[in-house]
Amino acid sequence: MPRLPRFVLGALLLALLAGHASADDVATDCVFCAIVAGQRDAVIVHRDELVVAFLDHAPRNPGHVLVVPVAHADDIVATPAATAERMMVVAQRIARAIRRTDLRAEGFNFILNTGAAAGQTVFHAHLHVMPRHAGDQPAGADHQRPRVGPEVLAPVAAKIRAALAQEAAETGAP
Ligand code: AMP
Ligand code: ZN
Repeated sequence: MPRLPRFVLGALLLALLAGHASADDVATDCVFCAIVAGQRDAVIVHRDELVVAFLDHAPRNPGHVLVVPVAHADDIVATPAATAERMMVVAQRIARAIRRTDLRAEGFNFILNTGAAAGQTVFHAHLHVMPRHAGDQPAGADHQRPRVGPEVLAPVAAKIRAALAQEAAETGAP
């Protein structure tokens, strides 16, 4: 192997370190990573080793939940299969739980916007569980929906958490 001059080795090392630092920055700047890490407030309804589910702060309808991987992945395509499966299982349970509550969803949109061209605005994978009611308003773009605070979200989350616990007690599901 040819001996490389010291300054070339130094430059290579710096380039490697710079690459490493920028990869870390992506996760540090990620709003959903911050929520998962407890560094940013969110109204959480479920947490396990693979996924976290919390209420969307600009809900399409009451009970609009986002199910996200614990480990950062830019979108569902980049999410490891076991985590993607867990996201769907947890989304199913949340939808069943919501059906038990007086939020009375008649239907759901399960949505995985993938890539900016498809409307993804937060680049940490997330599965929307969006309760729907017959004749409710057209969805509109995410940025057009008004944000609501924890005083609105917390009572909704309490209902979903209680229904999830009821469901788990009845089915014995982890
Ligand atoms: P998407 O267009 O699929 O990327 O949707 C991103 C969703 O994340 C939108 O519905 C936003 O309202 C929601 N969102 C963004 N930031 C937060 C946050 N800090 N807490 C809760 N929901 C958020
Ligand atoms: Zn992230």
